[in-house]
Amino acid sequence: MKTQFMIPFFLFYFSSGSTQPPGSWTDGKTLRLDFIHSGTDKTEEISLDEFRLEGPWSGPAGVRVDSSGLGLFRGEVVLKTGETVYAEGFSSIFGEWQTTSEAKNGYRRAFHESFRFPNPNVPAEIRILRRTPDGRFSLIGAFPLNPESRQVNRAPVLRSGKLKEWFIGGEPAKKVDLVVLAEGYSEAEMEKFFLDSDRLCTSLFSTEPFLSRKQDFNVRHLYMASPESGIPNPRKDQWPATAFGFQFNFFDSDRYVLSSANKQIRESLSQVPYDAVIIVCNSPKYGGGGIYHLYASVTSDTEPAEYVFIHEFGHSFAGLGDEYYTSDVAYDSFNPPGFEPNEPNITALLQDGKLKWQELADPGIPIPTPWKKMGFDSLSAGIQKRRSELIRTGASEIEMESLFREDREKTQNWLRSEHYYGKTGAFEGAGYESRGLFRPELDCIMFSRNPDHFCKVCRKAISEAINRLTQ
Ligand SMILES: [Zn+2]
Repeated sequence: MKTQFMIPFFLFYFSSGSTQPPGSWTDGKTLRLDFIHSGTDKTEEISLDEFRLEGPWSGPAGVRVDSSGLGLFRGEVVLKTGETVYAEGFSSIFGEWQTTSEAKNGYRRAFHESFRFPNPNVPAEIRILRRTPDGRFSLIGAFPLNPESRQVNRAPVLRSGKLKEWFIGGEPAKKVDLVVLAEGYSEAEMEKFFLDSDRLCTSLFSTEPFLSRKQDFNVRHLYMASPESGIPNPRKDQWPATAFGFQFNFFDSDRYVLSSANKQIRESLSQVPYDAVIIVCNSPKYGGGGIYHLYASVTSDTEPAEYVFIHEFGHSFAGLGDEYYTSDVAYDSFNPPGFEPNEPNITALLQDGKLKWQELADPGIPIPTPWKKMGFDSLSAGIQKRRSELIRTGASEIEMESLFREDREKTQNWLRSEHYYGKTGAFEGAGYESRGLFRPELDCIMFSRNPDHFCKVCRKAISEAINRLTQ
């Protein structure tokens, strides 16, 4: 059932009240810790910006300690009794930046970040931890919180823009609250945003497991006007003014679309309940990004936009890793050798003879699973070379899309001719590494630009992410 009507914010705000039981450690509102995460590739520092009171908490009520093992970082709410009442894993732009050559060359950078949690009504300590490659945690920041403190910013959340309820499955506390936010849409382009976000969400909820779990979601589309149309593309010296600072060429990677303006994004989002965010950037150029429990971004007007929307949401919502390994990316050695990757859909086969996704593997399938990787690699290398040349010469989006189409068709045909196509095993080549990392199936939305399906392992990880927010 799809509802598409505008509702005034004040009605919406008062209809999504607290569901917290009396006597609980939280008052049922949302508190946001805003901080600056700075350092080099090997050092880091967390500095307080502010505690910011938002609206009602939209996640499950009660104690909720994430045991998924996902995310490079973890936020915790610890009471004076020592009890951890809330914990959530997340990744961040700073964490990605640490793997770039800029960081490795000794530069320092700082990024604004946030950790949101149910607002405690008793004194607590808010902790930020970093996951070490062996899965343990080290404390990198701790901030005492007195719920009565004048230091908490309690200013009313500003309400602006236009909200459309695209699909409402039920109460925010029991559903995944997904917000699709507009970026780079001028005042004249509001209807275009609603058409774009409708098209992209229709595609997401036509894909398993989102299709069969749609009732577990509330999906809201939030339009905020940008001063101008489009988003900056530094490689072409195009700099339209936008609402939220998204741009191409993040970390000097042509198609990577992120923003450093976390504060503006969070302030605008705080007027709606949200567990997950997708930013739709108004542009005809291919691009996107997705960081676990931060947001996914996608550009609106490319042929593979629906595919990118779903792929990037796989990163930001379920912590899935990229299963591809032949494309140029901004990172140097994303996964430290000798450790099992944190992502549920990539393995280094380091778990003592037991496959990470053993229960989903086809019985009797050889591990590692053989495939004609060398032939595939030379096919991909040819496409990559042509793509680099198109980027270098500033070719048109039409030329680039034509290459993507050719890539998708050739890749699909190649993979479908493989003996173990559609089977779950462990295929070498994943996580930007040609050797030593393995993916569950030959093809998946996290591997190629084929929008056909998520592999079984990715589908399970997404279902588990939905369960964490609805149970
Ligand atoms: Zn997959």
